Amino acid sequence: DTQAQQALHRLLAQFGLSLEPGDTPCSNWIDGDLVAGRGDAIALTNPATGGDLVSYRDAGADLLDRAVEAASRAQVEWMALTASERGRRMNDAVRRLEGHEEDLAQLESVIAGKPIRDCRGEVGKVREMFEYYAGWCDKQHGEVIPVPTSHLNYVRYVPFGVVGQITPWNAPMFTCAWQLAPAIAAGNGVVLKPSELTPFSSVAIARLLECGGLPKGLINIVNGLGPTTGAALTGHDGISKLVFVGSPDSGRLIAEAGARRLVPSVLELGGKSANIVFDDARLDDAVAGAQAAIFAAAGQSCVAGSRLLVQRDIFDAVVERVGRAASRIAVGLPADEATRMGPLQNARQYERVTAMIERARAAGARIVTGGQRPEGLPQGADGYYLAPTVIADVDASMEIACEEVFGPVLVAMPFDDEADAVRLANGTRFGLAGAVWTQDPARAHRVAGQLRAGTVWINSYKAINVMSPFGGFRDSGFGRSSGLDGLREYTVPQSVWVETGVEASVAMGYASGE
Ligand code: NAD
Repeated sequence: DTQAQQALHRLLAQFGLSLEPGDTPCSNWIDGDLVAGRGDAIALTNPATGGDLVSYRDAGADLLDRAVEAASRAQVEWMALTASERGRRMNDAVRRLEGHEEDLAQLESVIAGKPIRDCRGEVGKVREMFEYYAGWCDKQHGEVIPVPTSHLNYVRYVPFGVVGQITPWNAPMFTCAWQLAPAIAAGNGVVLKPSELTPFSSVAIARLLECGGLPKGLINIVNGLGPTTGAALTGHDGISKLVFVGSPDSGRLIAEAGARRLVPSVLELGGKSANIVFDDARLDDAVAGAQAAIFAAAGQSCVAGSRLLVQRDIFDAVVERVGRAASRIAVGLPADEATRMGPLQNARQYERVTAMIERARAAGARIVTGGQRPEGLPQGADGYYLAPTVIADVDASMEIACEEVFGPVLVAMPFDDEADAVRLANGTRFGLAGAVWTQDPARAHRVAGQLRAGTVWINSYKAINVMSPFGGFRDSGFGRSSGLDGLREYTVPQSVWVETGVEASVAMGYASGE
């Protein structure tokens, strides 16, 4: 796979992560330095071809100590600046990405196997998130609480200190900026561990941001496996808050590690989101929405609309249309501008998804389209490709209908009426997102209000914005990211009481509960 290796080397060199072809890249950004890991080698495979791509070394515990120390020192420096200055620095820092957007997108596309046009969109989001949270730096007012006049009581929102963040492989640049920006806007230092499968883009971004004017050491990126570097981060004494984006199984481990040290966590986990189509919906829109909901990013998206619930009288027609649309999606090499869906990111994910499809088939489900490698792939596309898949005749209790697949697999189920739709939609252990398609506005809001999901769309799917809170119910996690709620996760309200010297009768009134 020399072509991809050379392309990757050029990109890594562009960001200073690798000097000579064949070098082990520096995979950590610690206290303003690119540092190579010292642990075991971690080999990465090209998702598009299945060939070897590059290998790097796990960070290891002593690098983590350095990262936490640097973040702790830089955080004090950061908070010594005025709030307006912090906002200005964040804006300056993200402007440093200018001129590097295409290289960042290419780097992500090669490593994550995502279509290049999707990666360009992701880079745009990095800027959006930093600019949004830069604006919050000097607007985090405290509050004055109307306690009796014997005292003045005010609340201010103070940073935790150093926060630990762990992100997944499906949207590495997005999730990195999504959590870095509010963390530093709230005044924290950060140590972030990206997924071991997509280590480099976060390092490149952190380095550019720091060159753009953030204090040395405020943001540190360490790379390595979950059970080694990840566990060292969650168990580190210097970390005061954990923010995790990933699967429910790992989320549980992170929350447990936090609980052992009484450190709070935010968990942004998986989903099995429902797209509910009523028979009065505009069907062209619903079909297009259903398709975008699941097949974008090859279904490797936490908010993927992986369940299509359709009112029974239009079920066959809608499933047939969605299946036909799915079979026409341009599946191809990530670097190809025409590609709309790339491969799955890694061998483990490919095996997991295909095994789930086989178990569904064995349990009696009908594969409407897909379910195997797509036909007509370009030469060399020997990686982890799976055709857009639509599955019908499933029972709500089947694994394929209630577990997160995290692949381009849509299950379709009929429902009879509104109550039935709500019951089915809420019938998994997840609660991340969902959508309602109908032309009856009263019904749209009625159903939206009954869905146990952190985000609900009406006649739309996947609209998200950094201004609006995002997060889950139940196994999709807790805590919120984005918006003011996302910022508040990175602060602690501190209540300050001042004795005002107002005469005792007023104070007595307070004591007697008046
Ligand atoms: P994962 O849970 O396997 O890994 C996520 C991260 O956790 C990685 O960095 C990994 O190294 C780390 N990790 C694993 N075990 C650990 C441990 N014991 N201690 C510390 N860290 C550990 O998830 P993934 O496969 O990378 O990502 C896919 C999952 O992420 C899906 O379930 C998807 O829905 C979810 N996701 C959720 C959101 C959201 O915002 N809700 C966004 C993107 C992805």
